[in-house]
Amino acid sequence: MTHVVILVNTSQMMKMKTYYASALVDKLPPGSVFSARPANCTITAYKSGKVLFQGSQAEIEAAKWQEGAKVAPAQKKTSTVKTHRYSPPANIGTMSIVGSDEVGTGDYFGPITVVAAYVKKDQLTLLKEMGVQDSKNLKDPQIVEIAKLIKDIIPFSLLTCDNPKYNTLQAKGMSQGKMKALLHNQAIKHVLAKIEPEQPDAVLIDQFAEPGVFFNYLKGQELFKAKATYLSTKAEGIHLSVAAASILARYAFIQRFDQLSKKAGFTIPKGAGSKVDEAAARLIHEKGLNALNEFTKIHFANTEKAKKLYAKKYH
Ligand code: MN
Repeated sequence: MTHVVILVNTSQMMKMKTYYASALVDKLPPGSVFSARPANCTITAYKSGKVLFQGSQAEIEAAKWQEGAKVAPAQKKTSTVKTHRYSPPANIGTMSIVGSDEVGTGDYFGPITVVAAYVKKDQLTLLKEMGVQDSKNLKDPQIVEIAKLIKDIIPFSLLTCDNPKYNTLQAKGMSQGKMKALLHNQAIKHVLAKIEPEQPDAVLIDQFAEPGVFFNYLKGQELFKAKATYLSTKAEGIHLSVAAASILARYAFIQRFDQLSKKAGFTIPKGAGSKVDEAAARLIHEKGLNALNEFTKIHFANTEKAKKLYAKKYH
């Protein structure tokens, strides 16, 4: 359905209301001043000054009022992203940003990798041309290719929490959320130190916990210092620095994963599904139960499943 939004002042809006007097409807949507239904068009005027025209006659009706009115930009859909006081401003996509993201938290095998990367606004076009985008839309070979292109042109910090370290921290009672928060904070501090005395317009973290929880994890830590700090889910799509960080983190994860496969003597699978259980059972068979500490995140449910599989399959 066609729709047009224009922006008008109050007197213009009142003129419109008078003009559509015979087509006014009684039931008003929330926040609206009036609503009218002339032939093949629904018009809704809002307190903000925006007037929405919908239907096949939308453009024709809107054209009657467009002189002297501004065409309001189409609103971005943000319905799936929760807003809070750390929500980024609408123009963040054009700023110079240190962005951070992590990889590996849902994979039974392999480490957690976290990257903070600095992308200046004048590099945005270049990075886009190099293919930097939401890594969820990219396959591993593409990620490797893009990572190789960007690793020498943007400053970044990579932190890897290998499996033995992860398992030690986890056994001491540290949650994965806290580990991630610590790693993000460290990586951001490193990259900020690297680019000194230059400062980004802001830091943008791909959000994995509510802001209150995130900052609570970092209590007692020396926090990174920035002009502004934003947390958002789906941040890879909000600024290319987070997309780049995600690609670099994934690249490091893939490399580490390949090393682990070599060490295992067979290809270990990603994720935490049944293939993973089978691979872990094979690993127990070939290297012993203790090997899991070096290869896996032991506290995942996969460990018990693998032990059962091992008992069934290899005994
Ligand atoms: Mn993320």
